[in-house]
Amino acid sequence: MNSLLLTGGRVIDPANQFDSIADLLILDGKIAAVGQNLSAPAGVPTLAAKGKIVAPGLIDLHVHFREPGQTAKETIATGCAAAARGGFTSVVCMPNTTPAIDSAGTVALIRERAERDGIVNVFVTGAITKNIAGEELAPIGGLKKAGIVAITDDGHCVQNNDLMRRACEYAKMFDLPVMDHCQDYSLVTDGVMHEGYWNVALGLRGWPAAGEEMIVARNILLAELTGTKVHCQHLSAAGSVALIRAAKLRGVPISGEACPHHFTLTDAAVAGSEKFWADDGKLLAATQKPGLPQWPAYDTHFKMNPPLRSAKDRAAILDGLADGTIEILCSDHAPHCDYEKEVEFDYAPFGITGLEAELALSLMMLVQTKRLSLSDLIAKYTVNPARLLHLAKGTLSVGADADVTVFDADRDWVFNRADSVSKSKNNPFFGWKLKGKVTATIVGGKKVWAE
Ligand SMILES: [Zn+2]
Repeated sequence: MNSLLLTGGRVIDPANQFDSIADLLILDGKIAAVGQNLSAPAGVPTLAAKGKIVAPGLIDLHVHFREPGQTAKETIATGCAAAARGGFTSVVCMPNTTPAIDSAGTVALIRERAERDGIVNVFVTGAITKNIAGEELAPIGGLKKAGIVAITDDGHCVQNNDLMRRACEYAKMFDLPVMDHCQDYSLVTDGVMHEGYWNVALGLRGWPAAGEEMIVARNILLAELTGTKVHCQHLSAAGSVALIRAAKLRGVPISGEACPHHFTLTDAAVAGSEKFWADDGKLLAATQKPGLPQWPAYDTHFKMNPPLRSAKDRAAILDGLADGTIEILCSDHAPHCDYEKEVEFDYAPFGITGLEAELALSLMMLVQTKRLSLSDLIAKYTVNPARLLHLAKGTLSVGADADVTVFDADRDWVFNRADSVSKSKNNPFFGWKLKGKVTATIVGGKKVWAE
């Protein structure tokens, strides 16, 4: 059954600047009508959405599903289950699998698996360079023909500026955006956390903000030089936001994304919960009362790349989201097995899972604090990523694919490890009290997850 009538919800469709209490009729997997007092044709079930938000299906354009080659961490099937639970109807997979997605054959393999196992739409990115080694361009035209939506070496960063320039030129010929994980290796070397007060206090090697800002500046110059759309992934540093804000003002085709962990937490979290709640965590403490979540110092669930940064950086990311400098929200969902994370901080892999709690964290940090309207927040998860990647998604226009996310923006819930359906459990927010819960995820008119 891929027909459904959703009644009485607050339908918010930023692509059409629509925000009103309305019914939404889905017929044969497509949006058939949005309006008042719609009636369901015989045999079409009804879903009461009163008190809920009815939004276009959310898109996360930055996830790692680890298939092929690292399926102990996640598979397309388990990654899609986590996406559906988090309200995501479309995801965009990064190419740092084993092997890397640098050939048409690997793209075909993933698309086939996604067709077979995926309960949400899975889009694929291709590598910029062969084997993500940063030395030689991948066959960008062939990858495009195989169906990729962008190129990126995510997890790594092309250091050679001339090679990156050529990548931009090829990408432009094939109308592909270039997405970049911004990390200057010579500045970052073997840093494991933000370079500031806490890395010194904890005796951990620093990953300076300038290591990100340097590449953001490079990307702005190359976007300007080549006219290619360059998108900076998981921004964490205040300087990056300032650079992109200024570049956009002069019309450079540059964009950026931010992840909830970077605008919720800070580097103080690596020193343990007591240190975090004592200062940087204060602005969140009221949402966690009476008992604040606890964790020890050197907890590797607070290790990600780029790292959690200072309170000043966090404030700049929030400002960049509020004023539109950063147009896109995503998770950088990066599953790792327990045994990989249960080692010394220096040796643990970077990354955390993100799909299941990101909407709630975004609502808490951006909407409940009045930095963004609900509609502007939904745009950062729907129409904005769809536009960047030319996806025919992210809207409730009549005739569009019936991908719909229904959520209760005011519902309180606790994010428990036992409820997570990702194959990996490396998440720092287990035990946190969250506000805003997905109640139904609909893909092509079919309920793929519901409470
Ligand atoms: Zn990355």
